[in-house]
Amino acid sequence: MADLDGRVALVTGASRGLGEGVARALAARGAAVMLVARDGAAAEAVARSIAAAGGRAEAMACDVSDYAAVGRVVDRTRAALGGLDILVNNAGVIEPIAEIATSDPAEWARSISINLVGAYNGVRAVLPGMLSGGGGTIVNVSSGAAYRPLEGWSAYCAGKAGLAMLTRAIALEASGRGIRAFGFSPGTIDTEMQAKIRASGINPISRIPRSELSPVEHAVRGLVYLCTPEADDLAGQDVAMRDDAFRRRIGLG
Ligand code: NAP
Repeated sequence: MADLDGRVALVTGASRGLGEGVARALAARGAAVMLVARDGAAAEAVARSIAAAGGRAEAMACDVSDYAAVGRVVDRTRAALGGLDILVNNAGVIEPIAEIATSDPAEWARSISINLVGAYNGVRAVLPGMLSGGGGTIVNVSSGAAYRPLEGWSAYCAGKAGLAMLTRAIALEASGRGIRAFGFSPGTIDTEMQAKIRASGINPISRIPRSELSPVEHAVRGLVYLCTPEADDLAGQDVAMRDDAFRRRIGLG
């Protein structure tokens, strides 16, 4: 696969799960990486471990729903790491897990402010610099829930559906100016989010046994592939790990 030497990536939600794996893999491929999560100490621990393995990484505490905070991260990334070529909008929450009729309006709005507005905040903060610098890659971590309603997940499904449209809107406005925007559905992967889902028992996804979840490494491989020129022809699309053609393309048979 292509070499990411000299590239700079910002990965949100990089303290654990898919985001941690992607940050580690991008750094192993030569990219300098800025890791953010609300828990800055947890993101910092991952960054230190990347650095100990010979990679280049920094971390900051940031709630992606706060545009000013995202702007500070983008400024710091450019100043400390020398640019910003790749944005991975991975931060996300499954809560509130509740049926619409009994859901808490504030919690519902909070979900949208992280899963959808948080991703917009990242795009809004990086895009002017990417456009003036000749291009960049944006990966919005989506979900099958963007296309399929699931009981108890109205906020999550609506946020991810909005995110799928945001990916298309970025592609429409900026693909002719060097921006490669992708949606990426990782499949059902074995992370803390799935542990919360299992504990809820609220819908068919929550009843998938842990042993049937996909390893995080497979989704990491798929997402990092999108950050390379090999994925140029997929730009503008929602790419899903459950797609057999894509799995073959990244060597997962
Ligand atoms: P996870 O283990 O719960 O990790 C979520 C990450 O996002 C953590 O680093 C968390 O750190 C961070 N985060 C949450 N809210 C944030 C906020 N407001 N600002 C900044 N960071 C925030 O989840 P995961 O399974 O790795 O999920 C990663 C992405 O994949 C999400 O977008 C999720 O919707 C998507 N996805 C997952 C699955 C699955 O099966 N796991 C399936 C489809 C899609 P802090 O809590 O410290 O902020």
